Amino acid sequence: MSAHGGEPLATPEGPGIPVPGSALVIAAHPDDAEFQCGATLASFARQGCEVHHLVLTDGSKGTWDPDCDRIALVERRRDEQREAARRLGAGGEVLFLDRVDGELAADDVTVGEVAAVIRRLRPRVVLSHDPWRRYRLHPDHEVAGRVAVRAVVAARDPFFYPDQLGAGLHTHRPDTLLLFEPDEVNHLQVVSEADLQAKLSALEAHESQLETTHFYRLDEPGSRALALEQFRSRERARLSEVEGAPGGGLVEVFHLLAEQL
Ligand SMILES: [Zn+2]
Repeated sequence: MSAHGGEPLATPEGPGIPVPGSALVIAAHPDDAEFQCGATLASFARQGCEVHHLVLTDGSKGTWDPDCDRIALVERRRDEQREAARRLGAGGEVLFLDRVDGELAADDVTVGEVAAVIRRLRPRVVLSHDPWRRYRLHPDHEVAGRVAVRAVVAARDPFFYPDQLGAGLHTHRPDTLLLFEPDEVNHLQVVSEADLQAKLSALEAHESQLETTHFYRLDEPGSRALALEQFRSRERARLSEVEGAPGGGLVEVFHLLAEQL
């Protein structure tokens, strides 16, 4: 993956930003966080960071099976997300906003609920989808990014959602916003082999998504081991074949915003 326009990639001098005491990942669906920044979250957690997950939708459309019991699917995906967080060593809260999958809106109520979570958990680093990424199809990813950016702005200023303040909640300004699926890469987070393994293990906790993300054909039993192996090499390639990675090592890619916060 390269930056747009052939610009040289701004790579960090060291292994990325300082490890924060706490981080909050705001994702559209269960499994987005693991796909986009799972190794970074594992790396933070391994170094003492408390990592919280906030999933905005219920994941109720995450199946290709038209006969699926979607109420059971929502419950199953919540359990999978909790297990994935555990496998990352996250140690923080796993929260669900339960908007309907595919219908997420960056409305004032949703932004206010996310701002309240930021004000309560007070993360030093917030991670979310890049809302400015071009040619991306899934509407929830773009909207989740807009919700996250609006909520970060709202959380820091006392005149946004003032009714939240005073009831144990205070304004909060994170140090860094790391946008994943970036339209323009300007930051690489170096991760270790152990972090990659934690990411893969966490991704594999999302068992209900084997068909849609691992391309495991449920009607062809026996192919699961092969599908998993192919999935693992695909994911490893995404982290190991990044242009500009220090020493050609494993990295996850982001657009980092800090001074603008
Ligand atoms: Zn998603």
